[in-house]
Amino acid sequence: MTEPQHRELLGLSNEQLAELVESFAQAPYRLRQLLDGLYRQRWPRLDQFTTLPVSFRRQLADAGYAVGLPAIEKKFVSSDGTVRYLFAFSDCQSVETVWMPDGDGGEAGDGSDSGDEELAEISLGGVILSEASKGSAVEGSLSSTSPVRRHPERGSASNRVEGPALSGNRRLATGNLSRTRATLCVSSQVGCAVDCKFCMTALLGLHRNLASGEIVGQVLAVLNDQQVEIDRDRINLVFMGQGEPFLNYDNFMQAVRMLVTEAGIPASRMTVSTSGIVPRIADFGAEEIRPKLAVSLNASNEALRTAVMPITKKWTIEKLLAALRDFPLRNRERLTFEYVLLGGLNDSPSHARELVDLIRGLRAKVNLIALNPGPEIPFSMPEPDRVLAFQTVLTNAGIPTFLRRPRGRDIYAACGQLKHTTELVSLQKPQ
Ligand code: SAH
Ligand code: SF4
Repeated sequence: MTEPQHRELLGLSNEQLAELVESFAQAPYRLRQLLDGLYRQRWPRLDQFTTLPVSFRRQLADAGYAVGLPAIEKKFVSSDGTVRYLFAFSDCQSVETVWMPDGDGGEAGDGSDSGDEELAEISLGGVILSEASKGSAVEGSLSSTSPVRRHPERGSASNRVEGPALSGNRRLATGNLSRTRATLCVSSQVGCAVDCKFCMTALLGLHRNLASGEIVGQVLAVLNDQQVEIDRDRINLVFMGQGEPFLNYDNFMQAVRMLVTEAGIPASRMTVSTSGIVPRIADFGAEEIRPKLAVSLNASNEALRTAVMPITKKWTIEKLLAALRDFPLRNRERLTFEYVLLGGLNDSPSHARELVDLIRGLRAKVNLIALNPGPEIPFSMPEPDRVLAFQTVLTNAGIPTFLRRPRGRDIYAACGQLKHTTELVSLQKPQ
């Protein structure tokens, strides 16, 4: 497993960029201009950094620096509007990033601003409430028109698009403003070593960690392609793509810091999901800038979890829950437990009761995810009435419980389906 050589500006921290500016004998204020070009303007090429003197741009280029936005190799568009991006890096490794207009319902009820907005929408039966119009419901409208952009060259019309015609993003109309709202699912590693038995990414094994610039780069490249204006649009980030973020902790956290402080995406609109890398949970709790925490529990007892998530042998449910009890939640914040329902295996009312006992006392919500099927995944989807019965047990016990809507299953973009899939074979129900 070799890490590629990076001279990519997106991979550098503020301190490293400041050193770079100094090493080329440039005035300190050039740092701000460099950061602005990278993260606010999101310019893909150094020659577009017109705020910087030509001499500085040449110094950077001569020293081998480039912006480092990853190339969009392929784009698959689902019938539900979800877009799966396949990004290729310089060493030919690739990962996927998913754009979900409207999110998937997993954002609801987590005590954050964005979660509360989702909750308001759910309780209003799908009517979309925009921030600016709280108190007076405004129906979201589907529109394929994009607002005028400062950078028309960013769109990727030349990229290959697979699947049905591009469907419009959900935009919130408030007066004469039109705001995109979407959730972006970001990868942290190429493949994954954790070996969960229901997940297609596990079948890849771990190819390598992503550099922080490659994590940041996925986000910025999709924001460009979707013509997002951060100050206007409502974008949530979930670090739930390929990989286990807490096994690439330092690069992941550096990417988070740059996305918050420089790209301007609030940490309260970000969630990271872990399979339960216990020592990193305490480190994460001590971070000044951090996303919200989600934990993939997926089973209600030790034997069941060990069978579907062998990592449980290393970090038991007991150790995991002990770390979560110590986790310093912020004002109104809740932990999220994710629970993938596997038909006939972990989806009975008695499993739900066992889960209630397990997480009792934690300030948490539960997101239920019906298994997303895939070739070589030896489990079946749960029956819809079992899903509802499971949810009822939890909500009756006072645990806020939400169903995550499958997004982009037809293009292998849903949870657990990311596996460099370039051929879209039809999904058969496993035997
Ligand atoms: N590695 C991290 C984050 C990526 S996986 C983690 O495991 O938490 C994101 C979520 O997808 C996890 O909650 C995982 O349990 C879920 N998932 C994996 N495979 C799935 C599948 N086939 N169907 C539905 N959800 C799945
Ligand atoms: Fe890795 Fe998460 Fe998939 Fe498990 S569910 S194999 S931790 S990506």
